[in-house]
Amino acid sequence: MDTILVVNAGSSSVKFQVFAVDGEGRLHRQLKGQMDGIGSRPRLRASGINGDAVAERAYPIEAVPDVPAAMAVAGAWLRDEVRMTPMAVGHRVVHGGPDYDAPVLVDHAVVARLERYAALAPLHQPHNLAPIKSILANFPALPQVACFDTAFHRDHPDVADVYAIPYRLHEEGVRRYGFHGLSYEYIAKTLPECAPEIASRRVIVAHLGSGASMCALSGGRSIENTLGFTALDGLPMGTRPGQLDPGVVLYLMSAKGMTATELQNFLYKECGLKGLSGISNDMRELQSSQDPRAAFAVEYFVYRVGLQAGMLAAALQGIDAFVFTAGIGENSAPIRARVAEKLAWLGVSIDAGANAAHALKISGPASSVPIYVVPTDEERMIAEHT
Ligand code: ADP
Repeated sequence: MDTILVVNAGSSSVKFQVFAVDGEGRLHRQLKGQMDGIGSRPRLRASGINGDAVAERAYPIEAVPDVPAAMAVAGAWLRDEVRMTPMAVGHRVVHGGPDYDAPVLVDHAVVARLERYAALAPLHQPHNLAPIKSILANFPALPQVACFDTAFHRDHPDVADVYAIPYRLHEEGVRRYGFHGLSYEYIAKTLPECAPEIASRRVIVAHLGSGASMCALSGGRSIENTLGFTALDGLPMGTRPGQLDPGVVLYLMSAKGMTATELQNFLYKECGLKGLSGISNDMRELQSSQDPRAAFAVEYFVYRVGLQAGMLAAALQGIDAFVFTAGIGENSAPIRARVAEKLAWLGVSIDAGANAAHALKISGPASSVPIYVVPTDEERMIAEHT
């Protein structure tokens, strides 16, 4: 059977999945794996469809110093041991800039254009592009498709995507892009199958994971997203603050003498749930901690989800349904219940049993707005595009 390889490369790991394509063009997930500990303690781990381990091995640090080397090791393992030669490779690429509103078949010119967007996402874009470049160099005939986290939001009206700064900066690319687009696109595409009654209505989707954002869907299209120019805006995240007055950044520069590099590290790695609790960036740990700072960080998270929901409801001029997804949204019944309490002013109420069971629909019969839990699958979305 033909296969498609999906690659999601970060700074210290390359995650991959393999999908088989059957005669009708349907996709069947075969394998999930990752090379992690790149440049520190490289490890290859992979599991089959039932979760059974098919690889678990360590490499010396000099064998996997960077992302291209990790891609080469994983690729050789897939080719030589799994005997899998993909018909195409789909890549997650965080930034498609102002222009790409759909996935694109990659060539050298596309790569050059995507490299220009690296300044907009310095922590992600270069790592996303590294495996594309090494496959292009070593297997030039293998089709590769770049799928963007920003593309799904490119339909926004202008008023949603500008900042109130001189317009020439907008034209230069300083504007709101929005992220987690592959996740929202997957949800929008899945709703007609799992919840057709809301698929074409006004839906707020809350992607609550280590990275967190919310999206306003109208008729299955994104009209507003809580993330903006970078993935720092909107909701508090594991280690990122979410919405922050830029005056705080000015203060950190002028009063604390922080440099751009220090600020970048601070804003991406030291803030959010981790900074606020002083304990952990992991929601599970915070929920099981007895420390009042952990409880406060969780309360802050829930409060901000409620606030941003109000903002998105205003953008949609009303709300017909609310959907939870991603690590926290799919797995934490207590957080879902607490977010629902923040939406009580809309007439929302939860069915405690359905919520505890992680049912598709978790709102009670009296709830004026139905609440759903829909697992996301960004890799499948990438495979479908590819
Ligand atoms: P990402 O893909 O952005 O790395 P995920 O979508 O996997 O993140 O979400 C990770 C987050 O989900 C972590 O904060 C983790 O603690 C949280 N999470 C996973 N399972 C649960 C659970 N059962 N209860 C609470 N939080 C959970």
